[in-house]
Formats: sequence, C-alpha cells, structure tokens
Amino acid sequence: MIIDIHGHYTTAPKALEVWRNRQIAGISNPAEMPRVSELQISDEDLRESIENNQLRLMRERGLDLTIFSPRASFMAHHIGDFEISSTWAALCNELCYRVSQLFPDRFIPAAMLPQSPGVDVRTCIPELVKCVEQYGNVAINLNPDPSGGHWTSPPLSDKYWYPIYEKMVEYDIPAMIHVSTSCNACFHTTGTHYLNADTTAFVQCLTSNLFDDFPTLRFVIPHGGGAVPYHWGRFRGLAQELKKPLLKDHLLNNVFFDTCVYHQPGIDLLTGVIPVDNILFASEMIGAVRGIDPETGHNFDDTKRYIEAAAIDPEARQKIFEGNARRVYPRLNAVLKAKGV
Ligand SMILES: [Zn+2]
Repeated sequence: MIIDIHGHYTTAPKALEVWRNRQIAGISNPAEMPRVSELQISDEDLRESIENNQLRLMRERGLDLTIFSPRASFMAHHIGDFEISSTWAALCNELCYRVSQLFPDRFIPAAMLPQSPGVDVRTCIPELVKCVEQYGNVAINLNPDPSGGHWTSPPLSDKYWYPIYEKMVEYDIPAMIHVSTSCNACFHTTGTHYLNADTTAFVQCLTSNLFDDFPTLRFVIPHGGGAVPYHWGRFRGLAQELKKPLLKDHLLNNVFFDTCVYHQPGIDLLTGVIPVDNILFASEMIGAVRGIDPETGHNFDDTKRYIEAAAIDPEARQKIFEGNARRVYPRLNAVLKAKGV
C-alpha cells in the first residue's frame, strides 16, 4: 500500500476560518469572542470537503492512506495566549478525528498541539493525551518556533521540550517538526520559514546529544528535510568538527525525511544521499504548491511519480511508500495490522 505521511486539512469548510477570525477579533474585543458551540460543521460538510479534494486526488494518484493533521499554516501559535491556542487546537484536532471516522480506511489523524510562545510545554500534554487515547492519533506536529518566525523558544535539544518527548516515548509516537505561519516579513511562510525550520531542527539535533537522552525519540523532518540532503557533506563535516559520531549513528536512528520535494531532481538527490530507511513518502497535497508543472504537465505535489521514476530498486520503493511509515509510526502499523492489512 501507499501511505502519505504528510497531509493537512487545508480544505476544511469555510465555517472554520470564519470562526477563527472571530476568535482572533475576540482577543482585542472580548464581546466578539465566539463560543465553541457556535462552530457548526456537519458530517456532510466534512465529507464533501474531503471527497472533492484529498480523496479525489488520492484515488487519481493511487494513494491508499493519509496521515492527516490540521492545516499547518492555520496553527498560528503566535496568536493570542495559551487559552486561545488550546481552544483552537481542540477544534482543529476534533475535525481531523471526525474525518478519520468518516473515512477510516483513508485517513488517520495526527495532532497539532496548543503551543504558545513562552508557555511551558507541559500545558500541551492534556490535548496530546486526548488525541492519542480518545482520537487514535498516531503522531503529533511539533512547532519548534511557536513565535511564527522570531525563534524565541529554546532549541529542540533544550530540556524545555523534554515533557513532550517523555510523552512521545511513552506512547511511541513520532513528531513531525512543523512550523506554522510566519509573522516575520523577512520569511515567506512556505517558501522560506518552513524550509528554514526543517534545516534548523536538523542542526539543533546535530549539535546536541538529544538522542542520548531519548534513544527511541523520532522526528520526521518534512519538505524533504529543507536544505539538509543538499548540504549533507557540510553537515557530516560539522559533526566531525564537533567530535560527534557519524551522522548515521548520531541522528539517523531518530531523524527521518519526507518526500515533499516537488521535482524529480530533488527526489533523485534525496534518494541518492539519504539512506532509504530514513525516507518516507509524502505529498502534502493541496498545500503550498497547488499548480501544474509546465515542464511535466503534472501537479508539482504529485510526488508519487518522482518516487516511481527514481533510480531505486523495488525493495527501496516499498520501504519509502509503506514499510518505513509502519516502522516510524507504530500506532499506525497496529491499526493496519488489526484490520489485517
Ligand atoms: Zn505540512
């Protein structure tokens, strides 16, 4: 089967965005703050938003299952305080859970956390627990920069983050390291902030000994790992300068990359540089880049084509499409096994 480990609910019914805008307005004018119960989205609305979009493309492209999380750019952890983030995360996670219930063979949820800049990450634990235990989430998205482009949080190697890691290890779930909207005009959200964060997260792991403290902790670095595969030699050299072990021992038991790279040469580089066991298929479809590539006539985010055309053997391709996802997301594997898949 083909598992897309990186999908977001970018096509949620408009009512969600309307509610969010009212919530944001309510920060400065409490009289405008909407109640949670005012967000009304029916199963029919959810079904329509999925069937005409993600599910249609999954069928067209031959993808079987998507790990599905709230829209990343909408997480916007920098807006408001913890209470604002908490209410918002709960609503978004509930919608992804409902989608997974409506299409149980097609979508399995991953959670956003109610992070807020400067707030103790322990405040995120109740939402994480609910999402895993009640909603069947198989992963979380962890934002290394809840300030939205100003990088006010400590690096991922700092003990600040450890309460989240302890919970991840307990549940045996990975985190996709995923920032949200940039509110720093220097950084375009999907053009630079995302890729900067991917690279930054990797280097924070490289320069630290985080995985000595958490040998089973797993991070998925999205968007093909940002600049990491392209500069693999630089990072190997840096590790050597810093007297760290070889990257394969230092990081590659814990760090994985997805295939959200939107052209063939990029995937060829990724699969040529990074060991196949560390590459997981993903498209992030209907996301940052929705157009058709005039050079190929296919959607940029139709990433399955690039894996199929890459110079790798069938066993490697199977690992990228399915095997690695089952290994890195054990709770996903357990769900599939329970279904006899
Ligand atoms: Zn994403």
